[in-house]
Amino acid sequence: MKILVANLGSTSLKWRLFAFNGQQSEVLHKGGLERVTDYPSAINDCLGQLKEAGAIQDESELTAVGFKTVLAQTVSGCVELTDAVLQDMEGGNLIAPAHNPPYLTGIRLFAERMPQTPLVGLFETAFYQWIPETAKRYGVPHSWHQAGVRRWGFHGASHKFMAERSAELCGREDIAHRARQLYVDAGNSTVGDADFRVISCHLGGSSSVTGIRNGIAIGNSMGLSPQSGLPHNNRVGDLDAMAIPFMMQKKGLTLEHVIRDLCSEGGLKGVSGGYNDLRDIQSEANKGNEDAQLALDFFVAEVRRWIGAYYLELNGIDALVFTAGIGENQASMRTAICENLGNLGVYLDPEANESCRATEAVISHEDSPVKIMVIPTNEELVVAREVKRFLEKNS
Ligand code: ADP
Repeated sequence: MKILVANLGSTSLKWRLFAFNGQQSEVLHKGGLERVTDYPSAINDCLGQLKEAGAIQDESELTAVGFKTVLAQTVSGCVELTDAVLQDMEGGNLIAPAHNPPYLTGIRLFAERMPQTPLVGLFETAFYQWIPETAKRYGVPHSWHQAGVRRWGFHGASHKFMAERSAELCGREDIAHRARQLYVDAGNSTVGDADFRVISCHLGGSSSVTGIRNGIAIGNSMGLSPQSGLPHNNRVGDLDAMAIPFMMQKKGLTLEHVIRDLCSEGGLKGVSGGYNDLRDIQSEANKGNEDAQLALDFFVAEVRRWIGAYYLELNGIDALVFTAGIGENQASMRTAICENLGNLGVYLDPEANESCRATEAVISHEDSPVKIMVIPTNEELVVAREVKRFLEKNS
């Protein structure tokens, strides 16, 4: 079985082709195109590269194309991307302007190009299907809640991979197995007596923190949209809702202006005075730019706030995990986030931390009660496996 996983950005198309032999998977091809202006040609190029590399002889060999879809109005989980689902996704365009429109464009073009091939989406919200009702709610009128104003949670594929891999690295095969079995039989499987509690920090261009008990998420720092929770590279993060009418009235901003400011001028870019890549912010801070230093400190404080929330909710943790561009590569940010947490059992090993760059590693002191780990994320594998299960279940 060959499954192509397509990652669609507003100007990029990245892909991985997986071949499955039973439960074993292998990446047959991996590639990407940047600065895409013509999506149909990009899809052609992608399929052409798969053939040139000998990964497929013909497009009909692709059993399905999988997508890490972000947000729909009512649909979650792993589903076939029918017209009805795409329409439901369209309802999320206003609140996920950087994420949903490119996916909708790309999916529709794949459907035209390969009408016989099933297109399946694993929504980023899927990992949060079992979070408690309290973690889904906002304090809004009932009619708002019924209209869909609720917390969803995102980065589900990445945090699910952290749930699996952290358990494997801690020798908890029972928990790892349970996490791998999601989303097929989450509620039903049982685990041993001992709790296994993890806080997973996905820190990248887009960032979120998730609490995980026994392989299943209990919540995520992002809420209704991927603009919430931690400050992102250029997206706002959590904000008092009254700031919006305040700015509309005070500065006469239109709704479009507000959306643009919150979704492309906010977050680390807003605080640092225009820098949205953490490497640039760091080099500015090193030169003495105080706004850049504040952006770094603010980011660390917000990550710690969410770690604190889940630490309390989980009544302690066994593992603290870092992943994604910043989490995997930025030792100084991991140091700042873990600083002075000895009372919580979190002790970083400075040498192990400094020497870890984008590789899987345990970076806690050997006596640290909490294991601190860096785990490179593998969202595409999570999508491919889920698409495979979806196809097998529905064949
Ligand atoms: P996205 O959410 O767009 O997938 P990434 O996970 O690639 O983003 O994270 C992007 C962020 O990670 C940037 O702020 C960047 O500074 C940081 N980053 C990515 N790669 C590196 C690296 N090799 N060294 C240091 N920082 C990195």
